[in-house]
Amino acid sequence: MATKRITFRLYPNKEQNDKLHYWRRDCLSTRETGNGAVGIDFGTHHALALDDGTVIDNPKFLKQNQQKISQAAKKARRKRNPQKGVKASRRWKKAAKEVGKIQSLVARQRQNWHHQVDPLIVSCNSLVATEKLNLKGMTKKAKKGSKRKKQKTGLNRSILDVGIGNLKSLIKSKVTEAGGFYVEVPTQKVKPSQTCPNCGHQKKKTLAERVHNCEKCSYSCDRDVASAKVCLNYARGMERASLDAESPSSTLCGSMKQLGTMKRQKRLSQR
Ligand SMILES: [Zn+2]
Repeated sequence: MATKRITFRLYPNKEQNDKLHYWRRDCLSTRETGNGAVGIDFGTHHALALDDGTVIDNPKFLKQNQQKISQAAKKARRKRNPQKGVKASRRWKKAAKEVGKIQSLVARQRQNWHHQVDPLIVSCNSLVATEKLNLKGMTKKAKKGSKRKKQKTGLNRSILDVGIGNLKSLIKSKVTEAGGFYVEVPTQKVKPSQTCPNCGHQKKKTLAERVHNCEKCSYSCDRDVASAKVCLNYARGMERASLDAESPSSTLCGSMKQLGTMKRQKRLSQR
C-alpha cells in the first residue's frame, strides 16, 4: 500500500505561514535584569539559600508522590513483565504506563517550580554566584555492602528531587541572556561550606551542623546562607580583578561594591 506524506502548517497558504514567522521574530522579548548581586547555595535542606538570608524550601515533589509511584510499581511487578523469550502482557504494559504517568507528572511539577523560582533571582540580579557542584559524584550509588546504603539512597533521592542541575542551567542561561554575569565558584579551592564569610576562617562542619558559628570572630548565621555569602564574596573578588585589569584609573571613585554595580549598569545600558 502506498503511503502519503502529509505536512501540517498553521496556515495553508505559504505566504501567510512566512508572515507568521516574521511576526514571531519581531515579537521576541528581551530579558531584563537588575543591578543587584546574589550568592546562591543549593542544597537539600533548603533548596536555595540566598546570601541575604532568604531561603527557598524544597517542595519535595517526588516525596509527595512516592507512595503513589510505589503502589503503581507494585501493581506492575505482579504482571508478566518482559523477560527473555517472554512477551510482556498487555496488563503489564498498562500498569507500567501508569507508573510513567506519575513520574512525568513529578518532573513537570518540578520544572514548573524551577520556572517560578528563577525569575526571583534573575529579575533583580546581574551578578549570580553559586558553587560548582559535582552532581554526578554527589548522587553516586553507595558501594555494595555499605552499611549506610539506605541513607545514601535517600540522600541521593532528595538531592535529585530538587533538580539542582536543571535549575542551575536555567538561571545561568537566563542571566547570561539578560547580559549579567554568572560565576561558578570552584568548591575545592574556596570551600564555601567550611569558610566564615566574615573573616575567612576555615573549619570543617558536619552535615548535621545547621548553623555557622565562627570561633574566631563569633559570627553566626544559617549554614547555607553563610555558604552563599562566601560564593558572592569570591565572585565580587573576581569581578574586582577583571575591573582592575580593564580600567586601573577608575578604581578611585567610590567603594568596590559600588563600582561593580556601576560597571554592570553601564554594560546593561549599552545593550
Ligand atoms: Zn569568622
